[in-house]
Amino acid sequence: MKLPLRGGCQCGAVRFEITKRPLTLYACHCTTCQQQSSSAFGLSMLVERDGFRFLKGGAAAFEIPTASKKKKLGLFCAKCGCRIAHDTEGRPALSVKAGTLDDRARLKPVGHIWVKSAQDWMIFDENALIYEEAPDDSYYALMERWAAQEHAS
Ligand SMILES: [Zn+2]
Ligand SMILES: [Zn+2]
Repeated sequence: MKLPLRGGCQCGAVRFEITKRPLTLYACHCTTCQQQSSSAFGLSMLVERDGFRFLKGGAAAFEIPTASKKKKLGLFCAKCGCRIAHDTEGRPALSVKAGTLDDRARLKPVGHIWVKSAQDWMIFDENALIYEEAPDDSYYALMERWAAQEHAS
């Protein structure tokens, strides 16, 4: 994966770049991600905050209701509504919505979380890490798997 990675919203008003190696890429099949993405699942690329910056526009923020007390912001383009990233208080990394990257040719997640609410037609890669709900290891295994894959390619 060649850095920087660049991406943006659907209308082009917001552009961003990623200058540090992403920590992992996973799919989330929770019902909130289904609703947010208006699709079957969300695709999250974890990127350390200091490795992400807006090049153009800057995003509007929506406070996402969560079960925990932690503040979670959804960053989106105010013009076209495209969700760019999620920023949860206390987490070292942003969750960048990977479908906003310019290069979408190889967005293969190393794992799937919240598969208990996944669509029943989903067929999972037998090599992928599968979690019924959220991982209880602070995403460590997902990060390790991603790093190993990056090393191999
Ligand atoms: Zn836009
Ligand atoms: Zn989710």
